[in-house]
Amino acid sequence: MVFDRMDFSNTFNPRTPYFWPVMVGGPYTTVKKYTPQECIDKYDNYVKSYKYWDKSEDNYFYYPHVFLSAFYSRYNLKKKSGIDRDRTLVFADSGGFQLLSKKATPETWTRAMALGWAEENASITPILDWPSRGEKSFAESLAFTEDSARYAVENRSSDKLKILNVVSGADITEYGAWIDKLKDYPLDGWAHGGGGTLIAMVEVIILMINKGIYRPGMKPAIHHLFGISSPASMTWVAFIQRMLNKLDIPVRMSYDASSASMAIGMGKWTRDININGSSGWAFAKKNLELKENFEHFKVFGFGCDCPVCRGITNLEELLHQDTYTSTLYLLGFLNNVYHQLRFKHSMDHMMILGNQELFTACMPRLYSKTFKVLEELFLNPETKAHSLTADLIKVGHQAMESFEPKNPLTSFMEG
Ligand SMILES: [Zn+2]
Repeated sequence: MVFDRMDFSNTFNPRTPYFWPVMVGGPYTTVKKYTPQECIDKYDNYVKSYKYWDKSEDNYFYYPHVFLSAFYSRYNLKKKSGIDRDRTLVFADSGGFQLLSKKATPETWTRAMALGWAEENASITPILDWPSRGEKSFAESLAFTEDSARYAVENRSSDKLKILNVVSGADITEYGAWIDKLKDYPLDGWAHGGGGTLIAMVEVIILMINKGIYRPGMKPAIHHLFGISSPASMTWVAFIQRMLNKLDIPVRMSYDASSASMAIGMGKWTRDININGSSGWAFAKKNLELKENFEHFKVFGFGCDCPVCRGITNLEELLHQDTYTSTLYLLGFLNNVYHQLRFKHSMDHMMILGNQELFTACMPRLYSKTFKVLEELFLNPETKAHSLTADLIKVGHQAMESFEPKNPLTSFMEG
């Protein structure tokens, strides 16, 4: 099958956000088990390599970003997966979440292990943090994380690896105290949990500006948000990037999302992302329903013109029980990532490179209002910071009053 490969790499403009799709569950199981060629040989519907991150592969689309959890540290990436940071940007999570969820302890997963593995394999990694919401107190989490910042500064040796400081806390006061304690460690940017809300996303960035950490003339840095996934949040990140660019602050936004994997786990085969939809995942069908609709698919296909769907020639095989996980999950993941990338690409183009006025006029009123509040904040960070939360909550409440309950912003604001 011949078609042009879409290239989603952002090399044309370094002032657009980084985005890292996270592969988990079924798709990851298949990748662990089979090489791209084995998938192509074994199953009808694989016509290209699943390695979208590698330019040298004959793949469905090209996007050189891979996000890996600390779990991957047991593998030699180059040998096992052919993931080479000289060709692909690799974001290696440090394992703070594994510590919090007790999948690891500071004894079984040490700072030396986290940093050592990242120095060998990754392009970007956060320090090993202890998120401030477990059994440890705020002060204990902060002390543990500060030790990690110090460790990283004293022991880093690879100039191929950027290391990010981590912010944690329950509210703006805790964020502020945390940042004050860690801000003097010379690292390459910051990462924190977006908390699922626009408020948490913006609060930390405004604090950074008010504390003079993010300012024109600073050393270029990366600001990463963990676990941001909805189309609405991709839009906010693009807008925040626009504001940083406008203020001439050389900070590049970055975020990861496992939603493409999670969605296919629930049988969601995205066809197109609808900005007014409740989640944007248009093919919201349970696995079972997907199979029951088989006859419908047989007649109408997936109704999608993406390169993954265009390679599907045998629906029966795709939905067959025996090969279910190996085909549906990984191809569904690739389809979903493709649509996320297409959405992000268009959004970045409109928000950052293109005409914001046109975009604002075409967006639901709620988005336009929120853009205005955000713009006010970024242009007057000091005078507006105190009312930041109040202003954004007000917009959120207006959203709840004036839009249907499933509006993306409303659910986003509710976290
Ligand atoms: Zn498709």
